[in-house]
Amino acid sequence: MKTILEAKGLNKVYGSDQKNTVLKNVNLEIVEGEFVSVMGPSGSGKSTLLYNISGLDQMTAGTVILEGQDVSFLSEKDLSRLRLHKIGFIFQQIHLLKNLSIFDNIILSAYLAKEDSRKEINKRAIELMKQTDIAELADHDITQASGGQLQRVAICRALINNPPIIFGDEPTGALNSKAAGEIMDILANINDSGTTILLVTHDIKVAAKTERVIYMLDGQIVSEKQLGKYKKEVNNIKEREAKLSKW
Ligand code: ADP
Ligand code: MG
Repeated sequence: MKTILEAKGLNKVYGSDQKNTVLKNVNLEIVEGEFVSVMGPSGSGKSTLLYNISGLDQMTAGTVILEGQDVSFLSEKDLSRLRLHKIGFIFQQIHLLKNLSIFDNIILSAYLAKEDSRKEINKRAIELMKQTDIAELADHDITQASGGQLQRVAICRALINNPPIIFGDEPTGALNSKAAGEIMDILANINDSGTTILLVTHDIKVAAKTERVIYMLDGQIVSEKQLGKYKKEVNNIKEREAKLSKW
């Protein structure tokens, strides 16, 4: 098993007052192909952890290694390359561009990256839209789609440059439980095809569909549970939820 991401001794202080230490010596290792979630009460530092290991924010101290490369304190230029090629993001507030079609939202970052021909990019976008069950929406406007559909668009956008890992901060937080369940099934399929996924959630139902659940409290990782890969057909979701409800 190969490590894809390793964080060592992460500290994050907001401002200059040490009292605002929000991450306290956090260590975390993610294996290639894992589907991991981070749970914990509001304010425990889940989003901060995610932002600091994914290059969305600058930690105060520590080391982050992604695919063997030290990405701890990169220049702005290297950081934007990293975000474009190595990492995909999905958020609760979906952050799509309202004046572009759904298809254009998906392909934009790949056109900017200029790694592949537009023909290849368009083909990949169509495959992703099929995989997430929104193929028929390609020419639609963002405003015509439901919350669940928009999150699927955001997933396609996150995957368009084939990043080895994607991060999500409460990606199902704004959805009803049916739509949230569907998004988790899509993410489980994407994980099955090899993409490593790390997401933050406070929802046991969401965490129960991931493979390993990490629990944070007051800026530290205090425990974790291994659930194994979620398989829809096995239908043991209640059992998995019960394991998590003991925290
Ligand atoms: P969670 O995602 O678990 O709810 P966060 O990582 O958002 O927690 O926040 C952890 C702590 O850091 C909270 O006490 C929050 O108030 C504080 N915090 C988060 N962002 C900032 C910021 N930009 N400036 C100052 N304090 C912040
Ligand atoms: Mg948060």
